Amino acid sequence: MFCHSVSTPIVKPVNGLCNISCSYCYAIGLKEHAVIRNRMCPEILKAVIDFFCRDQDDIEFIWHGGEPLLAGLDFYRMVTEFQGVWERRGKRITNFLQTNATLITPQWVRFFAENNFLIGVSLDGPKEFHDQVRCYSSGKGSYDNVMRGIDLLSGAGIFNGIICGISTANYRFPKEIFNFFIEKKIKKLKFARVKSIGHCDDISSLVISPAQYADFMIAIFDIWLELDDPEVEIRDIQSVVNLILGGNKRECIYMGQCDQFVTVYSDGSIYGCDSFPKIDALRFGSVLDESSIVQSNSHLQNFRELLRRRKEHCQTCDWYFICKGGCAKDCYEQLDSVEPLSEVCENLKRYFEYISTGIKSYNLL
Ligand code: SF4
Ligand code: SF4
Ligand code: SF4
Repeated sequence: MFCHSVSTPIVKPVNGLCNISCSYCYAIGLKEHAVIRNRMCPEILKAVIDFFCRDQDDIEFIWHGGEPLLAGLDFYRMVTEFQGVWERRGKRITNFLQTNATLITPQWVRFFAENNFLIGVSLDGPKEFHDQVRCYSSGKGSYDNVMRGIDLLSGAGIFNGIICGISTANYRFPKEIFNFFIEKKIKKLKFARVKSIGHCDDISSLVISPAQYADFMIAIFDIWLELDDPEVEIRDIQSVVNLILGGNKRECIYMGQCDQFVTVYSDGSIYGCDSFPKIDALRFGSVLDESSIVQSNSHLQNFRELLRRRKEHCQTCDWYFICKGGCAKDCYEQLDSVEPLSEVCENLKRYFEYISTGIKSYNLL
């Protein structure tokens, strides 16, 4: 049985292949290698499903890209066929898929609805912000097509919310962004700091600092608190509030289990979480290996040991009960750093403190 480790796959059936060309695309360095002949083949797909279903009872697959719809409908038909074998043996499987939504058609929606896929969409707020950074290679913005996709998904009840990238293009406008989503009746949100993760060329002009991100999130928290609509779920804030109130539900960033999330590329190779670049030091093996071989892989052992040492270092932090050492990628300068970046910590602590004070004043504590 898995011990939390290597249990949640982020699967890239077409690696970084995408039909649009966002200015901050983190998969850009993967695109060159992601020609159509490198799509995940049926044998590897079956090995992916078998690898992750064999030793767990509840399994979450996260289908990701690039643009995962480019794998084609027949690919996902095979997914459900291979998963069906395990479901008939009593395994509970959930499929999440993250898409840019531009290729969504009624046919896709029908398939996803029939097979209980939950579909998350990337949208960077109103058209004037979104179209600055999420464009086709022609330079044309993708906003109109994304919204058409969201409408189709919402109509079928399988829309699982938005990931909104926060960059220099939009970080100054928390109120406009929040109000836009509410107006569009989009109530499940995650705000992700656009970051350079090593696959991309220089996108530094779009990357915001930890302080700018904390300011943005604090502003969102205030607007959210004021709105007081229990249906509006902001994933990061919800996790922090929940943990302060003594609950357990949390985002990966507050789980302290970064060895649980792995990326599976189209050749079946298993690497660390998708936030990291694809580097040898985080290659944990392949779905064609026995799980025991992957679990004892020396890179994985080193990574686990690193996480252990980082947590040990963070034990004395007042916010450890929420943060657990933070995101293994974002809070540290290098892969082998044990001490978190002071700039990141200062802003995380400021953010936690602000939320804690805010909910206290709301008499929730
Ligand atoms: S949709 Fe995702 S993979 Fe495609 S260009 Fe944009 S960031 Fe890159
Ligand atoms: S490295 Fe960051 S994004 Fe990846 S699983 Fe850990 S917390 Fe999540
Ligand atoms: S805020 Fe910084 S010191 Fe505190 S637990 Fe998080 S990473 Fe560690």
